[in-house]
Amino acid sequence: KIPPAITLNNGVRMPQLGFGVWQVPDDEAASVVATALEAGYRSIDTASLYANEEGTGRALAASGLPREELFVTTKLGNPDQGYDPALRAFDRSLAKLGLDYVDLYLIHWPQPRRDAYTETWRALERIAADGRARAIGVSNFQPAHLRRLAEGSDVVPAVNQIELHPQLAQQELRSLHAQLGIATEAWSPLGQGKGLLDNPVIVGIAARHERTAAQVVLRWHLHLGNVVIPKSVTPSRIRENIDVFDFELSPADLAELAALDDGTRLGPDPDTLG
Ligand code: NAD
Repeated sequence: KIPPAITLNNGVRMPQLGFGVWQVPDDEAASVVATALEAGYRSIDTASLYANEEGTGRALAASGLPREELFVTTKLGNPDQGYDPALRAFDRSLAKLGLDYVDLYLIHWPQPRRDAYTETWRALERIAADGRARAIGVSNFQPAHLRRLAEGSDVVPAVNQIELHPQLAQQELRSLHAQLGIATEAWSPLGQGKGLLDNPVIVGIAARHERTAAQVVLRWHLHLGNVVIPKSVTPSRIRENIDVFDFELSPADLAELAALDDGTRLGPDPDTLG
């Protein structure tokens, strides 16, 4: 069972559900990613900052899956912002992954105080023009950062990968993305598995559907049209998180979930990080 795909603003198709590998140690990444590929995931989200591109690349190679069936995302780390550093960082990521192109390359954080992201974006445009990234995008960009990028470039990011879960529904960014033609990709989609999956509202909806809390939250993301990249190192949960394409939430479920949005951020504030 392979997840359905969405079409990005340059025509590239991206699976709507993928697998994230933040905090997976490099020496475990090969086996964890292999489990995900066996379960049917075809999209893998890594980053140079995660220090597991090599293990991820080993799993991709060992899977025997044709390259064109895989969708590989990696990200430019904060120390590598700027035109020349970005080009060099991209070469290093490709070498670690053992690939000759990625499907999606993202600027990991805007680092607005450093103010290098417009220059970095020119390097990503060059990488895309050379066919070494099929799509380019950003991560953790706030509305002001997206507008600033648009002033200096005609290339609209294909994706903005942002923290998004029922307690941080990101209404403003999602409507701006819709206006600009940017796909919304949700990171920490399960709220990092902490309190969110024990929330009585979510547990109650899960009981009504005879599904798990994680499956209800993933279904909510799919309903909103988000690309979603849950992470787990537990084989049964890896399989559970992709088994979400055979049920629908009701309007009443969706209203209960909408009421959970209280702006809780689990990760850093993109306006101040870096
Ligand atoms: P997540 O919301 O996917 O939660 C993962 C955690 O939830 C797991 O470690 C586990 O403890 C728990 N969990 C997973 N499946 C479960 C299940 N079925 N039942 C019960 N508990 C379950 O959190 P995440 O890893 O922070 O985010 C997912 C991915 O997003 C990352 O791996 C990474 O690829 C990406 N990400 C990107 C950024 C960014 O700045 N761009 C930041 C954080 C994460």
